[in-house]
Amino acid sequence: MTTLRCAACGTTAPAHFLACPRCRALFHAEELSALSQEADSLEARGDVLGALDRLRAMEPLLPATSTQTTQLRARLAALEPRAAGQKAAPSKVPRWLAGLGAAGVAVWKFAAPLLALLSKTKLLFVGLLKLPTLLSFFVSAALWSDGLSGLGLAVLVLLSIYVHEVGHTWAFRKYGIAVSAPMFVPGLGAFVRGASYPKSPAAAGDVALSGPWWGGVAGLVVLAAGLGTREAWLCGAAVLVAEVNLFNLLPVWQLDGARATKCLSPTQVLVVGGVGLLAGALAGSPMALLSGAGLVVRRWVAPPEGPGDRRTFVFLLALVLGLSALRFGAHLALGASPAGTGTLAGG
Ligand SMILES: [Zn+2]
Ligand SMILES: [Zn+2]
Repeated sequence: MTTLRCAACGTTAPAHFLACPRCRALFHAEELSALSQEADSLEARGDVLGALDRLRAMEPLLPATSTQTTQLRARLAALEPRAAGQKAAPSKVPRWLAGLGAAGVAVWKFAAPLLALLSKTKLLFVGLLKLPTLLSFFVSAALWSDGLSGLGLAVLVLLSIYVHEVGHTWAFRKYGIAVSAPMFVPGLGAFVRGASYPKSPAAAGDVALSGPWWGGVAGLVVLAAGLGTREAWLCGAAVLVAEVNLFNLLPVWQLDGARATKCLSPTQVLVVGGVGLLAGALAGSPMALLSGAGLVVRRWVAPPEGPGDRRTFVFLLALVLGLSALRFGAHLALGASPAGTGTLAGG
């Protein structure tokens, strides 16, 4: 086994030690100060994502309980909100288009946002091309299609869960955090794993809630398709998509609701919980009722300690209301469709 020798006092320690057990000198001091200096100069040049990347690389080199770690986390938290606002430099008009004069510039003004949208859509396919994601997706679909009516329904709901995970991926990347491809856990759902988690409440709430937000938009698309084609099973799928995303707002385990709750004040948790109970009762949504009840309980059982992030609060409130409305609308459409509710076994 390799050992480390402290440059300050000569004490030896196992290779996984981060600080000298005797004098507390840091074993990776040189690497740490190099990373810190790089972060400083990148930040000075306005490259917030680059600076965040260097600072995050410092975290595993510092003892978890050291004051340096506390300072590092505070610095990350201060820098993260600026990463979200950092826009890519406006793309220059390509030379061959600029040669066409005003017309060329006008064409580029129209095309540039489309290209940006395309690169965002490209994100939707990152995981679908990865073998483990694909395999776990089909195992989930095969297991699930047994209990519910039809493979189409299972595949559609799983696709919406996939979009939910891409929402998290998009948010992680916004803060410069590397993230794994989505993986499906048969019977449970799916997950993505970030290399680290944001330290500031605003960014942490953003990453947690971007999943249900993208998932809700996917549900809206499914409902629109159901209304357009008058297919009852599509409206039934939209009901399920809304419920799945409302379930994710439960403030327990590693669910999105738990991560978001940590960013709120106790009063904010109580307000969202109350709104969830009301919206769930009005929309007839079991999962909105469950999440609402869970949040009300969290107000008193292990409540968050922070002052509460306003943006996360508004985001969560909008999700509870929006997903409940989607659930309500989809159920209404299901009842009104010619085939009636018969298509969806068990409702
Ligand atoms: Zn020492
Ligand atoms: Zn999620």
